[in-house]
Amino acid sequence: MVTRHEAGSDGLQSSATMTHSHMPANLLDPRSADFAGHIPLLVVGGGGCGLTAALAAQQAGTDVLVLERDSSALGTTAMSTGLIPAAGTRMQREKGIEDSPELFAQDIVSKAKGQTDEQIALALAQASARTIEWMVDDHQVPLSLVDSFLYPGHSVKRMHGSPNRTGSELMGSLSAAVERRGIDVLTEALVTDLFADAADQRVRGVRVLRPDGSHEDLSCDALMLACCGFAGNTEMVREYIPEIEGATFFGHPGNKGDAIRWGLALGAAVRDIHSYQGHGGLAAGRGIPILWPLIMEGGFQVNVAGERFSNEARGYSEQAVDVVAQPGHVAWDIYDQRLHELMLEFDDYRDAVEARALIQAQSIAELAALCGIDPQGLQRTTDAVAQCVRGEQADRFGRDFTGKPELCAPYFAVKVTGALFHTQGGLAVDASGRVLREDGVALPNLFAGGGAARGISGPSSWGYMAGNGLLTATTFGRLAGETAAALLR
Ligand SMILES: Cc1cc2nc3c(=O)[nH]c(=O)nc-3n(C[C@H](O)[C@H](O)[C@H](O)COP(=O)(O)OP(=O)(O)OC[C@H]3O[C@@H](n4cnc5c(N)ncnc54)[C@H](O)[C@@H]3O)c2cc1C
Repeated sequence: MVTRHEAGSDGLQSSATMTHSHMPANLLDPRSADFAGHIPLLVVGGGGCGLTAALAAQQAGTDVLVLERDSSALGTTAMSTGLIPAAGTRMQREKGIEDSPELFAQDIVSKAKGQTDEQIALALAQASARTIEWMVDDHQVPLSLVDSFLYPGHSVKRMHGSPNRTGSELMGSLSAAVERRGIDVLTEALVTDLFADAADQRVRGVRVLRPDGSHEDLSCDALMLACCGFAGNTEMVREYIPEIEGATFFGHPGNKGDAIRWGLALGAAVRDIHSYQGHGGLAAGRGIPILWPLIMEGGFQVNVAGERFSNEARGYSEQAVDVVAQPGHVAWDIYDQRLHELMLEFDDYRDAVEARALIQAQSIAELAALCGIDPQGLQRTTDAVAQCVRGEQADRFGRDFTGKPELCAPYFAVKVTGALFHTQGGLAVDASGRVLREDGVALPNLFAGGGAARGISGPSSWGYMAGNGLLTATTFGRLAGETAAALLR
């Protein structure tokens, strides 16, 4: 029996007890281990969180080993756009952007409708600028400010990304930094079990499954769980977030919820288990995310009847469920040449061009015909949006279209569907990534960050603000690495 936590109306947690046949404890008695080696800090998972944790811990003088189940350290992070939000960076100051951790935290909390931990949100926001500058200055990760777009929910421009705005570039730079510092990453190393003392919940080591079926036991003084959430576990998705089960899964399949399973077995608290990052703009049949600047700068979405069905500008995460609810589980992004050119900044969008996902036409009627959308419906919607842009009518979904130019020929469309990217519920942690028990006391030597830890997105998909994923991965990663190193000293 484990305890499932659900957000109450006050945003705090209430709990309900349920059984999990698919959640064996996976905790082994340390006396049964055959330890082949000892590493002060073991990190499970070699994505963005795991590599930043390893870099921070090693920099602070602790020997660390990263254990990664895949043949390369990539994770969800390499699939991502790699944009990391931070408040008060020098990159923002150079562009004259005034920002503060308080404003950033306020944005996070209001996107989550107050239903997240405000102290954690503030602590992450306060540490965010240091994370970016530390990655750039100490580890040569080439991050610059994305100053062309304002992302939904953010009061100011605060996204930082690699030159081509890709997670694979981010992971490439982090992997190079790890290599430069001589940190070992053991790949094809699936951690299956933890060795822990039942008496004091102290983790003593891990069991690693190798591709040839052999096991290796490694002991440690502290353990960092950076193995993300449970988006790759169909059974858990069905149980905790059934609303998104019908969507395309576009995350890392190796993320099976191991951190949650181990944490629960150790007596850790789990929070916001129903929370996740969805996306309402995955190019249908292409598996390429069409990023939200296209919407925020004036694009809109219609269904096959040519009708809009929600306020797309609330955010891309909650839009996933709305798109999946449309006939055929699809929608079309409608935009024009100006937006097409703006979007060419993004590698993903250029991939969509190459994959011939774009439909182009000289008129709305032609666009509708090419897409198979009802032409009258699309014309009506386009006219209504134009009126909203001119301020002649209010949008029935509450979106503010003013301030952006009206769409004009040539027009573009991309057929999209809703997707699940990664989960945001996870182990309760304090501001330095220490895993907490139900009573709020920290477990003696267990840390978590990124998708393995409870995020800052509240209890559902609507609280996910762009960047919440990599903010918690990189900043919790850095802070947990530093804290673990201090603990071990
Ligand atoms: C298409 C897409 C775009 C996105 N864009 C952005 C963005 O621009 N900005 C943003 O903030 N967020 C974005 N996100 C979310 C972001 O990618 C995630 O929040 C973040 O990468 C999570 O990092 P992580 O290190 O916790 O997990 P991951 O990067 O998934 O790393 C976890 C690693 O753990 C390994 N692992 C799992 N279990 C085990 C085990 N038992 N033993 C050993 N290894 C294990 C996995 O193989 C994986 O490599 C995006 C996500 C997607 C899918």
